[in-house]
This record gives sequence, C-alpha cells and structure tokens, in this order.
Amino acid sequence: MKSLSLLLLCVVHTYAFPAVPATEDRGENEQLAEEYLKKFYNLNEDGTPITRKKHSPFSEKLQEMQAFFGLEVTGKLDSNTLEMMHKPRCGVADVAEYSHFGGRPTWRTTSLTYRILGYTPDMAEADVDTAIRRAFKVWSDVTPLTFSRIYEGTADIQISFGAGVHGDFYPFDGPHGTLAHAFAPGNSIGGDAHFDEDETWTAGSAGYNLFLVAAHEFGHSLGLSHSGDRSALMYPTYSYIDPARFRLPQDDVDGIQALYGASPNPVPTTPQATTPTTTVSTTTTTTSSPINPSICDPTLVFDAITTLRGEILFFKDSSFWRRVPTIKEVYNYPISTSWPSLPSGIQAAYENPETDQIFLFKGSKYWALQGFDILPNYPKNIDKLGFPRTVKHINAAVYLQSTQKTYFFAGEQYWSYDEARKTMDKESPRRIEDDFPGIGKKVHAVFEDNGLLYFFSGHKQFEFNMKSKKVTRTLKNTSWLGC
Ligand SMILES: [Zn+2]
Ligand SMILES: [Zn+2]
Repeated sequence: MKSLSLLLLCVVHTYAFPAVPATEDRGENEQLAEEYLKKFYNLNEDGTPITRKKHSPFSEKLQEMQAFFGLEVTGKLDSNTLEMMHKPRCGVADVAEYSHFGGRPTWRTTSLTYRILGYTPDMAEADVDTAIRRAFKVWSDVTPLTFSRIYEGTADIQISFGAGVHGDFYPFDGPHGTLAHAFAPGNSIGGDAHFDEDETWTAGSAGYNLFLVAAHEFGHSLGLSHSGDRSALMYPTYSYIDPARFRLPQDDVDGIQALYGASPNPVPTTPQATTPTTTVSTTTTTTSSPINPSICDPTLVFDAITTLRGEILFFKDSSFWRRVPTIKEVYNYPISTSWPSLPSGIQAAYENPETDQIFLFKGSKYWALQGFDILPNYPKNIDKLGFPRTVKHINAAVYLQSTQKTYFFAGEQYWSYDEARKTMDKESPRRIEDDFPGIGKKVHAVFEDNGLLYFFSGHKQFEFNMKSKKVTRTLKNTSWLGC
C-alpha cells in the first residue's frame, strides 16, 4: 500500500495552520470555524456570538466534522480541528444528506461527454488536456463509463477555471482554501467542474496538481460524495501524490462500482505507467443548448416564481430556472444544490427587496432566505403570518414595493399582508376575481417587474396593471425564458 502512505505523508503544508491558536486569535478562529461549518456541514444557525455549550448547533456540527475526519470528538475548537479546517480542500460539502447528492443522482448513460471551456494560464494547454483526460481515465478504467471530449455545444461535464464569483452560488475564496468544486449528475450545471483560478495549477508537485484535483472533482461529477477514508481519492482535503504512481484506492473503486458497475474490460491493478493513453476518443458533436428543452413546453405550469436581486427564479418540482438579465441564457439548478435543506415542490415565493430576503412556501411551512443562506429559526408555520388554520397552503405570493404589502393567493381568495406592521390587513381575505379581474379565479405563481404584476394561471400568463386594475397583455407562460 505504497500509495496510501504517500497520500498520508505528502499533505501540503503551504497553508497549514502554524501552531496552536493564540488567545488573541480566538475571534478569528471562531469566525473561520463558523464559515467552515456553514459551508461544509450545513450549519444553519447564525452562530454569532458562538455559544460553545455542548448542545449548541455550532458544537454539534463541530462534533460531526471531527467525527468525519477521524479527529477526537470534543465539540471544541482545538488545534487539530483548526489545522484540519486550514487545509486546502474541495468546495463540496462533507455531510452526505446535506451535500449536493441527496437521492444519489447518477448518469443514465455510460457514454458521457466533456468540454474544456477555458484554460488556466498556469499550465500549457496540452498539459491541461492531458491532466483532464487522465483524470477521466481514472474512472473509466474501473467502470463501463466512457468520456468523449467535445469542442462545441454543451457537454455533460463542462470544465472551467474561474476566480471568486464565477456564475454559480458558490464563489471561490482566493488562493488556497477551496480549490475546486463539481456538481452531481444532472442537467445544465449538473456534472460541471469548476477550478479556482486563484490557485496555481501544475502538472507536478508545486502548487496544486490539476490531475489529482480533477480526478477527485470528476468523482463528484459522477455522483460520489466525500469519503471519510483518509486514503480515498474522495477524501475532502488535498494531498499530493506522484500522478505517475497514482492508483485509484479501493474505497473509491467500491463507491463508483456501486453506482455504475465494474468495467467490462478491467485494467491490471498495477500502478499505471506515465504515458498518457489514447483510449479516450475525441469527437465533435453538438448537444442541446443550456436551456432545458422542457422549459419551452407550452403546457408547463410553474410552482412558484420570485425575483432575487434582479434575477427571476422559476420553480418547478425539484429544480428552478434562473433568469439572469445581463446574460441571455437561462440555467436550471436542482433546489438541493442551492439550498440543501429545502424540499422540492415549492408552492409560493416572494422577495422583499427592502430586507433583501426571499420567502419560500410549501404546505403550512415557510422559509426566509438571504441569497442562498436559509435564515435561522426557519421553517415557520404560516399561521405566524396571520393565516387561519383553514388555509393549508399558499399558491402564490408577491410583494409590492409601492404599497409595502405582500399579496398571498390561496384558492380563489387573496390576503393582503402589511410588511411594515407585520400584520394581515383586516379586510382580508377577498376574492381574486373582484380585485384582479381578467386573470382567472386561481393563481399558480406571480411576480412583479417594473411595477407590473405577472400572474401565471395554468399555462397562461397575464400582465396586470395595479393602477388601472386591468390586464394589459396576455403572454405565453414561458415568455421570460427565451422560448
Ligand atoms: Zn470533493
Ligand atoms: Zn462553481
């Protein structure tokens, strides 16, 4: 087990925490720990000031993290724990039920495509190509999977380098810390792998070895989550091992074969030679555009729609489409990728730009979110908003900046909620038909844009002017999505 010992010995120390934390650093360490647990262990509570009591959410998540890494489970921020938190690592969460991989998604086909969307200036392009090809080979050697490179169109696995905010909800963090992340199998962003351009990528032992990090990330692209086995490739922190001697550890072989089965042509288990192989075919095929085809289905009925910091989110079942006004493309994301603890089938949603919060509703529960952070003490019951027990769920909601009221639509009625006074208006509920003539009896989703309301009823959409109390246009349900 030479590879195992190498992996253990060659932990990169460039960013290791220097020593036991000094007392004056305590605030900083606690902040780091809180960020870490929020990012990788789904710590929801706003832990400031952190209570270090045995049963605080902070302490519980810390214990979970210590257990995962095989550290002594103290629930305290000791030096071993801090040292682990400082290690360069993958950006994907460690806790299985909160990681991106709830429901164990896998690819339904064994012939997958990948595309390198851009190169890092740190390495020669040919070296990047080789590192990526070899990283895929790690997985194709032990499964029936094949990976074909494409040069245009959308591949199953799109590979890119980016620094800081780079187009998803997971901004990178500068040098060290998070090195890369990848999304579980799925449409659109699913399967994609992003590498932090603020790192120094290499084909050797300096900086971070692209082959090693890519091989780990592609494990996520194929549906694996993190392993607590220190010898595993899917262990969350980075360790250098000579790529020429790399052999996929048994834990990872077991994991991937549980998802896809074994290779019909198993390769010998001796360490691989350094020569890159040529078994990966390179073909040029054009696949679908980033828009999921089902979004243009004229019979599509959205579950809920809300604005979010200038964007519009359209919820349907377990995913949502995100319309970013500055770019023409519309992207689809699994809800579980952006908000791991939220259920699918969101029924109503609205944004209050005044407080920079969005509210999502399902059944009698609702959640408040700030960006992709779920606020503490949620979900709450909708009776907190003043709904009678007879209201079991809400179909649609929208906040109107001009009146500072939120309108909730349930059945054939609507409620008006005063956001400033935090109470339901006395005259609520009223009939939708009476105050919003022309939009039909029921509302499935609604949002506001430029002072106009857009009501979605079945697969119809109505533009409604609140001042004139009239429908000003009837639109296709999917008109916002480039259909
Ligand atoms: Zn990872
Ligand atoms: Zn990313």
